[in-house]
Amino acid sequence: MKSRLSVRRSSGRHWMRRRPRRHPVPLRLPATAFALATALVACAPEEPAIDGAGTITIAGATLIDGTGAPPVEDAVVIVRGDRIERAGSRQDVPVPEGGEVIDAAGKFLIPGLVDVHNHYRDGLEEWSWGLQLHAGVLTVRSLGSDHGQTPAMIADARAGNVAAPRIFTAGVGFSHPEGFPPGKLGPATEEEAREMVRDLAAQEVDLIKMWVDTFLDTRPKIEPGIRAAIANEAARHGIPVSAHIFFEDDVWQLVDAGVRSFIHGVRDGEVGDDFVAIAQENGLTFAPALGQAKTFWWVAEHPELLDDEEFRAGIQPPALERLLDPENRAAMLASENTAKRRVAFDYMAKFIRRMHEAGVVITLGSDSGAGNIAYGWGTHHELEALVDDGGLTPLQALAAAGAAAAAELTDDPDFGSVAEGMAADLLLLSADPLGDIRNTRRIDRVMQAGVWLERGLPEFPQPAE
Ligand SMILES: [Zn+2]
Repeated sequence: MKSRLSVRRSSGRHWMRRRPRRHPVPLRLPATAFALATALVACAPEEPAIDGAGTITIAGATLIDGTGAPPVEDAVVIVRGDRIERAGSRQDVPVPEGGEVIDAAGKFLIPGLVDVHNHYRDGLEEWSWGLQLHAGVLTVRSLGSDHGQTPAMIADARAGNVAAPRIFTAGVGFSHPEGFPPGKLGPATEEEAREMVRDLAAQEVDLIKMWVDTFLDTRPKIEPGIRAAIANEAARHGIPVSAHIFFEDDVWQLVDAGVRSFIHGVRDGEVGDDFVAIAQENGLTFAPALGQAKTFWWVAEHPELLDDEEFRAGIQPPALERLLDPENRAAMLASENTAKRRVAFDYMAKFIRRMHEAGVVITLGSDSGAGNIAYGWGTHHELEALVDDGGLTPLQALAAAGAAAAAELTDDPDFGSVAEGMAADLLLLSADPLGDIRNTRRIDRVMQAGVWLERGLPEFPQPAE
């Protein structure tokens, strides 16, 4: 099937250019005029009052804007159309006359969550996106598993024909021909690799994804020469590359080849100061999927999750059946692979703490759609893991799912933070996520592009007769 990804560039409300931000004009006044100017400022608002007609104003919430900036209490956020018109404290942003005003006193306002690591399954796209919208995940990146109808569904979603988050995609990713996951692009030669990158470029993918992993020593890794050819050809087309990694040596080679964005983290040992230095110097970013790494034992250790409606609703029924069986859960805990994965997890958690302390950018990528990671729930679970295991504060974790993740997806993003000119993608929470990051699940309302969503958990689609 011919990809319809090109639709994105020409249409879709998500990619509307943002209005230029207002910058205060510095006034240069002679000293004699200063007193008069001060007097005028005191009795006149700094900017003309906003005409409230047609606006939605959310007033009184504590605003956590997604940049890592300290929260603003008693905030006022004015939404017009699909954009945020003003956002700030009530002193700076008075509630306009007219329009709709939502009293959000006692609540917490954060930007719609951004998740840079997801996989969608052929035929299950609408279900997956419905779960994510319900959970306030309003921007996603599909990382290399688009097969069957998925590319066409993504094009439809971008055209506004299917309810979905804002979607970025890598199309189909690269691995070794016999590597993991199966069914990916597995070029045998460097020239073939370049040809495949050119084909992806013609499909207008947002990035190139490659898996560089042995999957617990069961599969061959993509050859270094092939990786370099992919990265080089992608750079020629101005397309960023994101690599799934496990081993430290591979990161060195990939950085050398020009790769800057990494999925997961170093899991085969502790890195040294030399590694920290190259990560800082090259502006590397890591989206660890700490929650995903724990799923091999998490549910077995937390069987109460199986009573969690949102968790249950986000997992495919056959996988849920397996988890509901206590024998299977016991086997998960006893498995030799789980023991290996725990060791790798401990290295990765240490690695992410080290990177974070060194000021390296950490972004939220849940790996939703892989294994036991429920869509929607998985993003919140990753927020929790970034705090519990990655050493981020809740404020920093919200930036990892906000402005940092948005910057990972595109240059000059117009989403991922709550500020003038940004997309009106908002989550109103009924409890403080800074006190407990798990409170991001206490969602009162979700606004996507200026519209309050009707939330609800979608049913798993029945197979066609
Ligand atoms: Zn993945």
